[in-house]
Amino acid sequence: MKIILNNIPEEGLSLHFHRDGDWFRNLLPKREKHDFSLRNVDVSCTAKRIRENVLIDGNLETIVASNCCRCLEITQLPVKSTFRYTFAPAKDGDTEEEELAPEDLEYGYYHDDVIDLDTIIFEQIMLQIPMKALCTDTCKGLCPYCGNNLNMASCGCHADRINEKLAVLKNFKVSDNK
Ligand SMILES: [Zn+2]
Ligand SMILES: [Zn+2]
Repeated sequence: MKIILNNIPEEGLSLHFHRDGDWFRNLLPKREKHDFSLRNVDVSCTAKRIRENVLIDGNLETIVASNCCRCLEITQLPVKSTFRYTFAPAKDGDTEEEELAPEDLEYGYYHDDVIDLDTIIFEQIMLQIPMKALCTDTCKGLCPYCGNNLNMASCGCHADRINEKLAVLKNFKVSDNK
């Protein structure tokens, strides 16, 4: 979604649009491996001109599917973001790398009287995705011995290991009482 400056009326421009999973996948850097995806992004925003600057206010909602970092099950993470950007015209000789300090992400420059909203939306989604997704805060993860998902059932490995250790400590053989 691109905003052309001359199309922004005096009272501002309101936009609602959707983006899908293919759009997101195509924007992800190809060389990196990503273990998350999303289906649909809902975006609402307004653009307002203040002299030569453009103020973009908006919010987005989506659901990101990612693997829980403990149990590896697919987890749906609701993502919501409210954002505000100020865009100023890029002047000749400016390079974006120099002008956009990392702590100043919400300030941008537009070229040729066009603002690309997709870049903003993508950036906002990426900021909201947790580095380590969890299905629940209390996820028990996988059993380190047999790989069983401990949220589903307990496997008894842990108890067995403790018994083995005790057996070694006490220096006697574990009786086979199955
Ligand atoms: Zn989990
Ligand atoms: Zn186990």
